[in-house]
Amino acid sequence: MKADPSPFIETLHEALVTVRQSAEAEMDKLDIQGLTWHEDHITQTCWSAGWPVLKVVPFTQPQEGVVGADWLWWWVDDSSGECFGMLIQAKRLKHEGSRWTVDVRYRNGEQYRALLAAAGYFKVPAIYTVYLGGKILRAERDCSHSPESPPECVSCDRSAISVISAYELSATSSPADSAAQILGDGVPLEDLADPDRPAGDVWDLNRSDLSFELREFLSRPQEGPKEVAKRIFGAVSRMRALQYSVDVEVLDSTDFGQMFHDLPDDQGHFPGAYYPHILDGLRKSLPAGFQALRDGGEPPAELLERLAGVVFITMGSPTS
Ligand SMILES: [Zn+2]
Repeated sequence: MKADPSPFIETLHEALVTVRQSAEAEMDKLDIQGLTWHEDHITQTCWSAGWPVLKVVPFTQPQEGVVGADWLWWWVDDSSGECFGMLIQAKRLKHEGSRWTVDVRYRNGEQYRALLAAAGYFKVPAIYTVYLGGKILRAERDCSHSPESPPECVSCDRSAISVISAYELSATSSPADSAAQILGDGVPLEDLADPDRPAGDVWDLNRSDLSFELREFLSRPQEGPKEVAKRIFGAVSRMRALQYSVDVEVLDSTDFGQMFHDLPDDQGHFPGAYYPHILDGLRKSLPAGFQALRDGGEPPAELLERLAGVVFITMGSPTS
């Protein structure tokens, strides 16, 4: 029997690094044999390496092809109950001829639209986790961090699993475009929980229209799920700042347990208003169905129909 390494995982950052190292090892193992690897295989192989900080709850799929392939991640602070949700779709970087590609427009964009629709249903942002390959695949690619020794580059290592919001890829017109955007603007997954890489002050274009508490959120250091949400929001906000300014209105929102209400409706060039798309994922507590699931209950039908599974990410000290 293999020794169980999980008792040595103590922090969330460590857990995410372990997940990434596990993914790199699997990608390299298959690449060195000339075997094609698929994103779902890497997901199934590597995410469980983050236990007990990451708790992976895969759903058994009763009707093949009917259920969604996306995962819902909840970053949960057990001391406050606060949480941040993301709808996750995994993708991989491919080397096709001389080009690097990531296909997010599968079936003429149908898959992209379905991801956004599902994210809207759960009121959480749509996020891609992109597997950029291990050392074998990287050896074929230029590195922007240390041109002398790309395979040994620590920054490339950290980026082996990168995350980027679907909104940041809304304007890419080809798989090569999407790959360039992800390689340029994707954030290493583990950086979301790295205390040495805080989101910092987010200077948003709509800052003057915000409530006091929202301005405080964007300008002051945050912790836990709020900090993760701020990093995701910051990336989208930076992209918005490159586009033209418009007059915005504030949306009246109904209360479903979200932390921030009445957000700007500014859409920029994105598929929808970016404030609610990202920040509605920040909740005061886990929605009831997900809490029951975390406590060991059966997944409700509405989740089974739409998700491949759920990952609970414990922030702070793991509870078990
Ligand atoms: Zn590099």
